[in-house]
This record gives sequence, structure tokens and C-alpha cells, in this order.
Amino acid sequence: MKKTRNKVTIIGAGMVGSSVAYSLVISNIAQEIALIDKNKKLAESQVMDLQHSVPFWGYTKIKAGNYRDISDSKIVVVCCGVSQKPGESRLDLVKRNAEIIKEVVPKIFKENREVVVLMVTNPVDVLTHLSTKLFPEKKNKIIGSGTILDSARFRFLLGDYLKINPKSVHAYIVGEHGDSELALWSTATIGNTSISNFKKLNSKAKKEIFEQAKSAAYTIIEGKQATYYAIASGVAQIVETVFFDKRMVLPISHYIDGEYGIRDLCLSLPVVLGEDGIKERMQPNISLQEKKLLQESAKKLKKVIKSVY
Ligand code: NAD
Repeated sequence: MKKTRNKVTIIGAGMVGSSVAYSLVISNIAQEIALIDKNKKLAESQVMDLQHSVPFWGYTKIKAGNYRDISDSKIVVVCCGVSQKPGESRLDLVKRNAEIIKEVVPKIFKENREVVVLMVTNPVDVLTHLSTKLFPEKKNKIIGSGTILDSARFRFLLGDYLKINPKSVHAYIVGEHGDSELALWSTATIGNTSISNFKKLNSKAKKEIFEQAKSAAYTIIEGKQATYYAIASGVAQIVETVFFDKRMVLPISHYIDGEYGIRDLCLSLPVVLGEDGIKERMQPNISLQEKKLLQESAKKLKKVIKSVY
């Protein structure tokens, strides 16, 4: 089917799914949003609430949908499943959510062979990989939100510490979206200036900032049970990039086939993203220590993958 509208289908109308829809409404990015949830009443109620915000922002059509909505969508956001409970790691969720993903992803591609699939459900790297195993020919179209969120947390904290707008901070967290992730200090820049030139940012401050970024989800979940606003903003940026073929460079989870000696799993590294998925994979010149940490992150993910499928 010819795709003409900027339509997105969101599967899972819980905290993350509804926040993604709200981010898209207030930023006027989408022409049409379909929300699907196994709890139909929840999807319908979220839709009503979202519809009532439309007069304040622009014109987005929002509906409680079903899988047929995917046939003319450009991107599907998968955020259905269970989320972390206080103290639980993302990898603890794997078995429960893998069963859901095995059911959902084939239904998506049955409706639309060309659609881009954005995994948000955790553990996002494992479930993105599981999806690429189900559809190996779709490796450029199946992506995960990965460390786009962790990198945003990192950039916010760096900007806050240095009193510089985080939009001007070009710094990535890569690897697993989770406990084994790493900061790419060696390639981080602000205004084309290496971050190592900012003397205020000593090694103690660097360590604290990275630890805060990495553990942010645990801190937030302890206080309010879930995280959703920041991930929703990251997802909105990904959706916008796909809708308008923006070719943004984003640190997102995708199939890795040889980069830094890592093979056959999904984790986050920067890629160029366009309307039909990944356009280009990037391999920044990272330090030897960072390469070692990335390989360790990959090893950890491989272990989990082996225990599940
Ligand atoms: P939530 O419990 O509020 O919502 C999940 C929704 O999924 C529920 O409404 C549930 O009815 C629905 N659902 C479950 N199985 C379904 C199915 N088979 N088909 C359709 N709908 C189904 O949870 P949440 O806070 O919105 O989190 C959703 C997921 O997103 C979790 O796995 C969470 O860990 C993840 N998450 C990821 C990131 C990230 O950065 N990748 C950030 C935050 C949350």
C-alpha cells in the first residue's frame, strides 16, 4: 500500500505508549496516531483524553486502533508488556516480555512488510535482537530506542554541570540500555571542543555524572514506579526522523554485525536514521578501554540471549 500520511501505530497504551502519543500531539509531528492495547478500555480512555488536548496544539487524528492500522503506518512503536518493579533490572523482565514480542512482531509485518519497527519494551536490546531473529531480512527496519534515553540523561547532566545547553553537548552512552552501558568520553565534544578540555569536569565529576545517568531509571522508578516523559521525547524524535527522512545521527539499538569485533546481537551505537530505517552504521574512533567495555557489554547481552532463545 502506498504510504502518504505520517501515521504511527503505538502498541501498548500504558505510561510509555500514552506519553509517546502526547509528545507527538504537542509537537505536531504526526498526522495520525493509532493506539492499540490488549486492554481496549484503557486504549479508548487514553485516546479520549489525548483527543481533548488536540485543540490546544494543532491537528492530529487519534484513534483506538487495531493491527489493520499498521497497513498504512510508517512506523510502529512497540511499548507493550511489563515494566520494571522497584529493584528489578531490565534484564529481569526478559522471559515475560519475549513471549509478548514473539506474538506481536509477526502480526506487525503481516500487515505491512515495509514498516519501521521501533522496540521500546525492555530489555530493549534483547527484544530488538529477538525481532531481527524472527525477521532477519528486516535488520535495517527493526530498531530499538536503546541508549537514546541514557544519552539524553547524560547530556542533560553534563550541560547542567557545565551550565551549557545540553543540545550543544555531543556525547553518547552506548552498548546495552542497562547496567553494562558505557560513556564514550573519548569522542564527546561541546562546540567542537573535546570534553577533556573542560577542566571543571574532573574525573570525580565525570564518574558521578555517568553513574547518575546510568542509575536514573532505578531512582525514578523508586519514586514514581515508572519512567515515561523522557523516553517519550526520544521516541518522538525517532518517529519524526522516520516521517521526514531527517537522517539524524542517533544512538539506538540495532543489529551489530562485526563492529568492534561484536557479532549477532543488538546494542546501541550511532546510526544515520531515515524514512526506511537505518541508512548508515557508524564506528567512532573510541579508546581501547571503551572498546573493551563495549565488548563486555556485548558479552553480557549474549549471555542473556542464550538463556532465553
Ligand atoms: P505499562 O504497564 O504502563 O503499559 C504496558 C501496557 O502494555 C499495558 O497497558 C498492557 O495492557 C499492554 N500490553 C501488555 N501485553 C500486551 C499485548 N500483547 N498487546 C497489547 N498490549 C499489551 O508499562 P509502561 O510503563 O508503559 O512500560 C512499557 C514498557 O516500556 C516496559 O517494558 C518498560 O520497561 C519499557 N520502558 C522502556 C524504556 C526504554 O528506554 N526503552 C523506558 C521506559 C519504559
